[in-house]
Amino acid sequence: MQSSSKAANQKFPLQGAEGARLVVLGAGESGAGAAYLAQQQGYDVFVSDFGAIADKYKTQLTGWGIRFEEQQHTEAEILNATEIVKSPGIPDKAPIIKKIKEKGIALLSEIEFAGRYTDAKMICITGSNGKTTTTSLTYHILKNAGLNVGLAGNIGKSFAYQVATQKFDHYVLEISSFMLDNMYEFKADIAVLLNITPDHLDRYDYKLENYAASKFRIAQNQTAADYFIYCADDAETIKGMEERKFAAQLLPFSIEKPIERGAYLEHQNLIINTSLEHFKMSLTQLALQGKHNIYNSMASGIVAKVLEIRNETIRESMSDFQNIEHRLEFVAKISGISFINDSKATNVNSTWYALESMSNDVVLILGGVDKGNDYAMLKELVKQKVKSIVCLGKDNRRIHDAFEDDVEIIVNTHSASEAVQVAYHLAEKGDTVLLSPACASFDLFENYEDRGDQFKQAVKEL
Ligand code: ADP
Repeated sequence: MQSSSKAANQKFPLQGAEGARLVVLGAGESGAGAAYLAQQQGYDVFVSDFGAIADKYKTQLTGWGIRFEEQQHTEAEILNATEIVKSPGIPDKAPIIKKIKEKGIALLSEIEFAGRYTDAKMICITGSNGKTTTTSLTYHILKNAGLNVGLAGNIGKSFAYQVATQKFDHYVLEISSFMLDNMYEFKADIAVLLNITPDHLDRYDYKLENYAASKFRIAQNQTAADYFIYCADDAETIKGMEERKFAAQLLPFSIEKPIERGAYLEHQNLIINTSLEHFKMSLTQLALQGKHNIYNSMASGIVAKVLEIRNETIRESMSDFQNIEHRLEFVAKISGISFINDSKATNVNSTWYALESMSNDVVLILGGVDKGNDYAMLKELVKQKVKSIVCLGKDNRRIHDAFEDDVEIIVNTHSASEAVQVAYHLAEKGDTVLLSPACASFDLFENYEDRGDQFKQAVKEL
C-alpha cells in the first residue's frame, strides 16, 4: 500500500500547542487518554465530567497533574477552550454542547485529536454490528504476521494514550458512529464498513439516513491510495454508496454473488481476489462460525491481503482466533440443554444473526431497554426456531405485542438468575437457551458485560 501524508490535509498545528487550552468533556477511557496526550503536547488541559468519575481515572488524572472536576460543568472553565474533546457518550442535545456550539468552539472526538500525533497506518472498522469481532480478528491476523500494530478505538486502552506512549506502525481502530460524528480531518488508510442497520436512532433524530451519513464519514478524506471495504449484500450500504462519491479503491465482499475484486464464496470456500495471489479457505476451518461471521472474516481477510500478509498466516489466524466474550459464547451444556451468551446483541439485527445460526429449538431470552426496535424482522425466525420467550427487562410489553401470535409461552422475569431458571424449566434435552436480548441492558444491569456475566453465573449455579 502506498503511504499517504497525514500532514498534507492537516489544518491544525501539530506542534505549538503552547497557550492553547484543551478541555476534555467526559473522563472515561478515551477522555483520560486525550487529556494525557494533550498535556504531553503542551496544551493547558482541563477535564470536566457531569457525572461521577471512576476512581481509576481520578487516580490517573491526579497522578499526571491534570486538573479536573466531576458532577458539574463549570462554564467559565470550558467555554474559554481553544478546542474541546468530547466523549462519544455525550449527546448533542446536552446543554453544555449547545453552548459550545453557540460559541463556535471546535468539538472533536478523541480519535480526531490523537490522529494528529501519529503517522501510523490507520485501519478503521465501523458498522452497526460486528465491529469488535472484526477489529479483534484483524488485529490478531496483523499481530501474527509480525506487524508492529496497536488495537484501540472502542476497545481496550484509549487510542490517545497509546499514541502518547507507543510507537506503532499500524493501528486497528474500532470506530462507532458517535466517534465519527466528531471526526473531520482524520483519514482511514483502510476503512471497513460492515453493515448499516437501525441502531442508536435516538441520537439521529430517528432518521436512518442521518445515522448512515455518520457511518459513511469513515471514508471521508480518503484518496486513491486508500481502500474502502464494504458489504455488497447490505442494502443500506449500497443505497448510501449510490448517493456518494468515493476516492478510495473499492473492495466489496459478498456471500450472495461472485466479486471481481474483493471477497466471495465458492463451493463453501471463502475466496479473496485482490491484485495479489488469490486467497482460499474452507468455511469449516473458520474459527468464527455463523453467517455474520463469514462477513466479518471476509472483511478482516481483505484488510490482511491489502497489507500483503501471506495467505498461510491469514489462514492460520482465521482458524485459531478465540472469539471474544458475550458474542455467541458457549457457556455450558446441562442436562442436554446448551446455554449460549450473546449479551452483546443489543439490537434486533444482531439477534437475527444469532437466531439464524441456531440449529436446535431455542428458548430465547429477550428484552431490556428497547431503543425503538422493529421486531418484525425477527418474526419469521422466531416462528421457525423459538419455542418460548423469556423476557428479561423492566418493561416487556412490546415483546409480548410483537410475538404473542408466534410462540406459545412468553414469561416475564426480572433478574438473570430468574431468567435462567425459567428458561431451564421451559427447555428440553437438545434445546438451546439463548441470551440474545436485542436490547440494551441498563434497566436491570450495569452494562452488557454485567448482563452476560450474571447470565453465566446463573447457568453455573443450576
Ligand atoms: P459491535 O462491536 O459492532 O457491537 P460485536 O462484534 O461486538 O459488534 O457483535 C455484536 C453482536 O452482533 C453479537 O451479538 C454478534 O453475534 C452480532 N454480530 C457480529 N457480527 C455481525 C454482523 N456482521 N452482522 C450482524 N450481526 C453481527
